[in-house]
Order: sequence, then structure tokens, then C-alpha cells
Amino acid sequence: MRGILLGMVVGIMVGAGFVLWQDKNNNWKQEAKNMVNTQLIPRGITDSAVIKAMLNTPRHLFVPQNIRHLAYGDHPLPIGYGQTISQPYIVALMTQLLELQGNEKVLEIGTGSGYQAAILAQLVDSVYTIEIVKPLCEQARRRLDSMGYKNVIVVCGDGYKGLPQYAPFDRIIVTAAPPNVPEALLEQLKPGGIMVIPVGTTFQKLVRILKKDDSTYVYEDIIPVRFVPMVPGGEE
Ligand code: SAH
Repeated sequence: MRGILLGMVVGIMVGAGFVLWQDKNNNWKQEAKNMVNTQLIPRGITDSAVIKAMLNTPRHLFVPQNIRHLAYGDHPLPIGYGQTISQPYIVALMTQLLELQGNEKVLEIGTGSGYQAAILAQLVDSVYTIEIVKPLCEQARRRLDSMGYKNVIVVCGDGYKGLPQYAPFDRIIVTAAPPNVPEALLEQLKPGGIMVIPVGTTFQKLVRILKKDDSTYVYEDIIPVRFVPMVPGGEE
């Protein structure tokens, strides 16, 4: 008898949990709104186009199914292969620092889940994004495709090399940290262009680089950050 009762109680609890989860899942727009209001605006995200993109992007679809309920929280999350999707604030900050007008060709290094690329896709003309971990690369490509982001090209390969065949880029955003700014990426940035990149090993800082002309760069330190390392690609 007690066994049956216990079984019923557990059954009801699991059922209720599922209903709650479903409800939460349908309610992602409200979660995105809370994320913007509590994590982004109070910390100085003011670019209305960035805010709109963050409100309109279903972040829970970019994380593994079993942690979807954590997708809008104030933290990075694991996406497999030892990699992470960045904290919402960091995505918003880096995007805002790019000072996008809408007509740019952007290069992203470190596609990961594809979330940052999806945000950019709504704000610029075209996005090229490179991911070195093949399964992540292919998953992000399928995901962005199925969600209808038509102006994103996902390339599987080594970000240290950039994409010389599509260069120069108006903006470059790097979402894994190299020990130093890769020379190839500086070269592939258009004069007048902006790069946002975390640099360092144990201690990293987010840096914004303005390329004035082919030999003049202005570096600006933004904040200390913690990104996964940008791994060397080796020979292909
Ligand atoms: N922008 C991602 C988060 C990226 S995490 C998002 O929105 O989800 C950093 C990613 O950079 C990881 O997926 C990692 O595999 C990738 N990465 C690391 N070194 C790289 C390299 N040399 N070239 C391309 N991608 C690299």
C-alpha cells in the first residue's frame, strides 16, 4: 500500500515538474525580458538594436535540452566538448562595442552554440563564423539553418587564420581567448573597422581595437574576462 502511495506521489511530482517546465518553455519571451531588465540594462547596455536582438532570440534553443531551464540565467553554460555559451551580458557588451550600423560584414571566431552569430545576424548584413570543433560547427550550422538565419555562413576550421578569401571585414569578434591578438585577424580587418577580442591566458582582458589605417591601431582595455582558450589549429 505504502509503495503504491509513494509511486503515486512520485508520479504526480514528475508530472507537475513537466507541466511547470513546459510552461517555462513557452514563456521564454518573458525570461528574455527579465534577462534584459535585470542583467543588461543595469550594467550599461543601451544600444536599442542589441537589446531588441537579445529579446527576440530564443537562447534556450542554443543550449543542451537538459539545461534549457537555465538558459536565461546570469552565467555562461556548458555546450559540450568542454566549451561554453557566453553569459548574456558578455554577448550584449561585445555586440554593443562593435558599434554596428546595419550594413557590416562581420567575422566571428568561435561559433560554439551559434547564439552570438544569431544575435549578429539580426544586426548586420552578413556574418561569417568559424568553429574549430567539428561536431559543434556542424550542429551550429544545422541549428542556424533550421531557425532561418540566412545571412550566416558557418565555416569549420581554424580561426587563427581568419578567412582571407572573404576579407576584409568591417568588424571582427573573437569569443575564445588567444594569448595575443592574431596577426591574420588584424590584417583582415578593414581600415576604419573594429575588433573586439579577449586576450590573455590566466588573466584575460576584453580589448577593443580600432584600425585607423594599415599601420595604426588604437587599443582600448574594456574589462577583465574569462573565456575558453583559443586553441591552435595546427596544419590541415
Ligand atoms: N560564441 C559562442 C561561444 C563560444 S565558446 C556562442 O555564442 O555560443 C568559444 C568557441 O571557440 C568554442 O566553441 C571553441 O571550440 C572555439 N574555438 C577555440 N579555438 C578556436 C579556433 N582556433 N578557431 C575557431 N574556433 C575556436
